Formats: sequence, structure tokens, C-alpha cells
Amino acid sequence: MKVWIDQDLCTGDGLCEEIAPDVFAMLDDGLAYVKDGDKILSEPGGAAGLAPVPAGQEEATIESAEECPGECIYIEIDCPTLSGPGRAAPGPSFGRFRPPKSGTRAGP
Ligand code: SF4
Repeated sequence: MKVWIDQDLCTGDGLCEEIAPDVFAMLDDGLAYVKDGDKILSEPGGAAGLAPVPAGQEEATIESAEECPGECIYIEIDCPTLSGPGRAAPGPSFGRFRPPKSGTRAGP
């Protein structure tokens, strides 16, 4: 599992850091960034700040994305069925998703 934040949509409320402090960090610019170990991926951030989610932090990361008021936390899941012969990009592929807000329905 990997995660990144679209800072253009971040409201700066800090919920993600509260829920998953090992995954997210707030910086002086008032925006949240993804952490990769001790490093904060703020240069440049955005999709280029894609980082692996530490083992054991998957649920907290998903909860952060669900609760994020800016809806700007993006999770990428390794999806072997998307790679292989006949696919445009060989090698591992990732399915990108945004979990729905808690209490919302996915559809009819
Ligand atoms: S929860 Fe979302 S909007 Fe709030 S600080 Fe984190 S990324 Fe930004």
C-alpha cells in the first residue's frame, strides 16, 4: 500500500496526523505531507510524494483518508491483476482509490 496527498485540496486541519502520526506530518505551511520513515516528502509533495505505508499502519491510513475533509488523501494498492501480458505498462500496477466517507453508501 502506498499513499500521497494532494496539498492543493488540504484544509490543514491535521486530522490525518492525529490518526496516523507515523504516516502523515503537518508542516509550517499549514499543510499535511506523507512521511517516508523519518523523511517528510514535501519537495515537491503531491503525487510525487508517494510513499509506502509502514507495516501495521494500513488501517489508520485508510481511516485518515475516510475522514479527510479535503478528500485529498490517495491510497494506491498493489493490484497484480492489472499487470501482465497485454497491459500497457508492464510490471506491477497500482489501483488508486479514495475510500468513501464513513457513513456514506457506495451506491444503490
Ligand atoms: S486530513 Fe486531509 S485535509 Fe486534513 S490535514 Fe490531513 S490531508 Fe489535509
